[in-house]
Amino acid sequence: MLEKMPLIVSCTGSDCAYNRDLTCNAMAVTMGADRQAVCDTFYRSDHQVAHPDSVSFVGACKMEGCRFNRNLECTAFSGVSLVGDNGRVRCHTYEARAAGAALG
Ligand code: SF4
Ligand code: SF4
Repeated sequence: MLEKMPLIVSCTGSDCAYNRDLTCNAMAVTMGADRQAVCDTFYRSDHQVAHPDSVSFVGACKMEGCRFNRNLECTAFSGVSLVGDNGRVRCHTYEARAAGAALG
């Protein structure tokens, strides 16, 4: 199951509870809060979780307009990077689907 989910290779959202040393420690995250390419699992906190060997995957994504999105899941299997941006954490791997392209 997990081998079919894209790995989160980095995240600079250092004010998120799941972030330690610029890596995500949630087992899986949901992307696409408010129909934007931002992390929906983001939880601002001064207390970071402690799972030193943890890896994290994209479990679901609502960004149907991204070319990597198939059936509301991410297929960017080379990995996904996220970048903290003015209080939100954006998917840096997002690429808009070509105009007229069918939804995955
Ligand atoms: S913002 Fe999202 S991807 Fe980044 S550490 Fe938090 S839960 Fe993980
Ligand atoms: S690459 Fe696209 S489909 Fe994958 S998480 Fe980012 S926005 Fe969603």
